[in-house]
Amino acid sequence: HLGNYLGALKNFVSLQKSKNCLYCVVDLHAITTFQNPKDLNSNILETTAGFLASGLDSDKSIIFNQSSVSGHAELAWILNCVCRVGWLNRMTQFKDKAGKDKEKASVGLYIYPNLMAADILLYKATHVPVGADQKQHLELSRNLAERFNHRYSDTFSIPEPFIPKSGGRIMSLQSPENKMSKSDENANNFIALLDDEDTIIRKIKRAVTDSGSDIVFSDNKPGLKNLITIYSSYAGISPEEIERNYEGKMYSDFKEDLGQIIADSLSPIRTKYEQIISDKDYLNKVLSEGAEKASYLARRTLSKVYRKIGLIKK
Ligand code: AMP
Repeated sequence: HLGNYLGALKNFVSLQKSKNCLYCVVDLHAITTFQNPKDLNSNILETTAGFLASGLDSDKSIIFNQSSVSGHAELAWILNCVCRVGWLNRMTQFKDKAGKDKEKASVGLYIYPNLMAADILLYKATHVPVGADQKQHLELSRNLAERFNHRYSDTFSIPEPFIPKSGGRIMSLQSPENKMSKSDENANNFIALLDDEDTIIRKIKRAVTDSGSDIVFSDNKPGLKNLITIYSSYAGISPEEIERNYEGKMYSDFKEDLGQIIADSLSPIRTKYEQIISDKDYLNKVLSEGAEKASYLARRTLSKVYRKIGLIKK
């Protein structure tokens, strides 16, 4: 959805121009809640196609699916043993996701931040492009790396979050007090990357705006503030500039322009996606070549980790 795109994917694409990047489809994270096996299988390919259609390039970056590189699960176990229960108990996302009935949440959901730390530390990543909601998990990854380094000597880089100034937290279109989320049952709350032009324009038209008619970027107008943030993130201009451009204009003028900007930018992604998703051989080739490269790097880190801990790896 648009939140993932502006919060994370857009930075994935820009970073690969100047850095060595690895991007993985996190299928092991996906199963922390039950996934229908057939759907999971197609979702892995669809997410890969979404990455490629959005501009990730398998010649520049290593693109793979997490479960194909067993090192992620192996390092996660080691980090489970480094992590303190109290650290995980502080994770707000678990509280949000598990809801009232946390006794019934999977253990995987509880310890998922350690798997995320493994995703990062396995490759000695220095920067991690994420949305603002992942800041706490990144902090945990840093704590785990520091604790491991302290116990067993310098091994991991300490990763920095790379969160966009604008777009790090995109809110729901209908209830802007909540984050835009893929699991939202009301499709009017989010814009999917594959929504067509009419749908995008309609959803933006229907998005909640606030009382009054001035186009101002203010906490008192959370609906409008969210739309201006999306606009700013797309157009690369500041909220203040947007306020100036729309002085004396109506909400409807602003929404019309915004809907069109989003539709124009997502249209080539949708066209490219349709081409890529129909070519399963290509997708599988990207994933298997990526897994091979990632496995090589992962093995190098893991053998060091095993040795430092004192394990015997035959
Ligand atoms: P998720 O879809 O929750 O697994 O998140 C994938 C990536 O998208 C993470 O880096 C999130 O921080 C980012 N992300 C998810 N939802 C949003 C949102 N509403 N606004 C900005 N970034 C987001």
